[in-house]
Amino acid sequence: MEQKILDVIIIGGGPGGYTAALYSARANLKTLVIEKLSAGGQMATTSQVDNYPGFEEGVDGYELGEKMRQGAERFGVESLFTEVESVDLNAQPKVIHTSEGDLLARTVILATGANPREMGLEEEQKLKGRGVAYCATCDGMFYRNKTVVVVGGGNTAVADALFLSKICNKVYLVHRRDQLRASKSYLSALKQSLNIEFIWNAKVKEILYDQKVTGVVVEDTESGDNIKVACDGVFVAIGRIPNTDMFKGQTDLDSGGYIVADETTRTNLPGVFAVGDVRTKPLRQIVTATADGAVASKFAEEYIDMFSE
Ligand SMILES: Cc1cc2nc3c(=O)[nH]c(=O)nc-3n(C[C@H](O)[C@H](O)[C@H](O)COP(=O)(O)OP(=O)(O)OC[C@H]3O[C@@H](n4cnc5c(N)ncnc54)[C@H](O)[C@@H]3O)c2cc1C
Repeated sequence: MEQKILDVIIIGGGPGGYTAALYSARANLKTLVIEKLSAGGQMATTSQVDNYPGFEEGVDGYELGEKMRQGAERFGVESLFTEVESVDLNAQPKVIHTSEGDLLARTVILATGANPREMGLEEEQKLKGRGVAYCATCDGMFYRNKTVVVVGGGNTAVADALFLSKICNKVYLVHRRDQLRASKSYLSALKQSLNIEFIWNAKVKEILYDQKVTGVVVEDTESGDNIKVACDGVFVAIGRIPNTDMFKGQTDLDSGGYIVADETTRTNLPGVFAVGDVRTKPLRQIVTATADGAVASKFAEEYIDMFSE
């Protein structure tokens, strides 16, 4: 029996994926979302989202993910909860290999997201959301008038420190070298921030906590000396890991491993689009992922129309 060819397969059921699905289904395209965990992606791991418009009290990230899934399924989107193991994006139709068999699609939207790089400390996992955070734009407001430590020395760490310095009483920036890797444009702003203190040549060795984070132990990488820094929160900004391993050798990736795609979400491969955190972009947030999803669906529709005329 001939295998069914779907119009759109979306890999990843985060906000980017389910928005692409909603728009695709409303454009009358046969749409499937493949998600290996649960709807909502990274967003589902936070209990309070305060910067997605429309929720005057904020919203639980898991709940928002479920609402996005249900909203898309209302228009006929199907969800398959399994892992995509590999893809053949050059084939026509495109082939998606999952642990439950192969699927075919005219277009594919890559929405596999990215994960923050962790410090790898023992206490880190259990303190996520209880003082350990990976996104200043998302969680900074929870630390208003408090003291925080930012870990890292690149652009994200410096941007986070500057952002937090406007909200918090005190920001410590812990960096393992004696100078920043961040671009020069940040330096004058840093000089003007009176409440940012640098701890150079240092790494966070331990997180101190009772119910929540109370401080960190920082090790001087040259002398080996340890100091305790009291704080209410630790923002880890040492990079992100995009989920793009299985696309290597097919879609173009930038030096950070993100899929190269501009505002149109088009990749180097015809009929293949990348949305949300997985693509090159200046701000990785729920609203920017959902915006990408809408755009990708428009171009997927256009691509399908081109071949059906
Ligand atoms: C703790 C935390 C708090 C945050 N808080 C906020 C906030 O308050 N406001 C805000 O705007 N942003 C916040 N963010 C950022 C926001 O969650 C992301 O920008 C957004 O989720 C990106 O959406 P996405 O759809 O691109 O990818 P993701 O949300 O990363 O979703 C990708 C999905 O793809 C799936 N996937 C990956 N590989 C495969 C595979 N091989 N097969 C099948 N499925 C796969 C994953 O399981 C995941 O569900 C937060 C992030 C974190 C980690």
